[in-house]
Amino acid sequence: DSEPKKEDLQRITGLMDGFKASKALFTASKLCVFDLLQSRPGLDASQVAHEIKASVKGTECLLEACASLGLLKSKERTSQKPVYENTDLAVRFLRSDAPFSLHGYIQHCNNTVWPLFSHLESAVREGTNQYERAFGKKSKDVFQDTYYNSQDVKLRFMSAMHSIAKVTGKSVATAFDLSGYKTACDLGGCTGAMAYEFTKAHPGLSVIVFDLPAVVEMSEHFHPPHTDNRVSFVAGDFFKDELPKADLYILARILHDWPDEKVHILLSKIADACTPGCGLLISEIFLDEDRGGPSRGLLQALSMSEGKQRSATEYSLLLKSNGFITAHVRHTDNFLDAMLCNKV
Ligand code: SAM
Repeated sequence: DSEPKKEDLQRITGLMDGFKASKALFTASKLCVFDLLQSRPGLDASQVAHEIKASVKGTECLLEACASLGLLKSKERTSQKPVYENTDLAVRFLRSDAPFSLHGYIQHCNNTVWPLFSHLESAVREGTNQYERAFGKKSKDVFQDTYYNSQDVKLRFMSAMHSIAKVTGKSVATAFDLSGYKTACDLGGCTGAMAYEFTKAHPGLSVIVFDLPAVVEMSEHFHPPHTDNRVSFVAGDFFKDELPKADLYILARILHDWPDEKVHILLSKIADACTPGCGLLISEIFLDEDRGGPSRGLLQALSMSEGKQRSATEYSLLLKSNGFITAHVRHTDNFLDAMLCNKV
C-alpha cells in the first residue's frame, strides 16, 4: 500500500471532525460570543469569559477553535494574551442583528437537528424520524406536534426559518420575471420574510402569507407592524382550509417536508384555486438528476422527516400530474433553487 496522501487525510479528518466544528460554532453562537465581540472588539479570553459567564479555560479553547475555523481573528500582543475580533464572515452571518444573520438557524441546528442526528443510527435502522427518542414526544405532524407545542420552541423554529428566508429570499424572488403577476400567496410563508423579499423585488406585487394560526399569531414578532402594506397574513391549514385566491402561488421549502401523497393533496388544492395561466413557484434544494448531490440536500434527508428530497424532474412530474407545466428551472448560488410553473 502506498503512504496515505496529505489531501486524502485532510478530507477524511475534515469529515471526522466536522461535528466538532459544528458544535463549536453552535456554542459560540449560543453564548453570544459574536455579538459580544461585535460591540466590544479586542477582548482577551478572560474578558470574554467574564462577559459570557464561562470558565477562562473553556473560553480560551472555544476562541482558539473559532479562530482556527475562520470565525474569529486573534491578534497577538507581545507578552500579553491575544485579543479577538469577528472575521468578516462572523460580522455578516453570525452576529444576531446582522441583516443576513444565521443565528436563528444555528440555534435550531443546536437545539433540534443536533439531538436528532445523535440518533442517526436508529433513524437509519428504523427509517423513521427520531423526535420521540430525542425529545420524548411522538410526532405525527412535526409542525403541530413538536415545533408549535411550546411558545419557545415555536419562536426558535420561526427564527430559524426567518434567517434562512432572509438570506435566500432575494435570490428566489428575482429568479424569474414575475412582472405579469399582481397577487401572490406564499403557502407556509411562516414569518413573511420571503414575502417581503418578493414585494421589495416586484413593486406591482402584493403577497398574502398563509400559514397555521399558531404561526400567524406570532408574525408581528419578526417585523415592525405595517412595514409593508402589500404583505398580509391569513391563518389556515393548507391541507384542509380554502386557499386565498392569487395569480401566483409560492411554495418555498414546503414540499420536501411531505411524502408524495400529501404533496398531491396540496398541489391539487392549489390547482383548484388556480385559473389557467396562474403561476406556481417552487423553491427547494434541487437534487442533481442522478441524486449524486448536493450533499446538503442529501444530509438533510437523513433527518428522516416524513418527506423527501427531490430533483427538479421529480418535482416537475408531481406538478405535471396536477396540471402544472414547468416553465423554468433556476439553480441559484444561494441556499435554495427555484422553479416556475404555469397552470394549463
Ligand atoms: N416557506 C418558509 C420559508 O421558506 O422560509 C417556511 C418553510 S418551513 C420548512 C414550513 C412552513 O410550513 C412552516 O412555516 C409551517 O408552519 C408551515 N406549515 C406546515 N404545515 C402547514 C399546514 N398544514 N398549513 C399551513 N402551513 C403549514
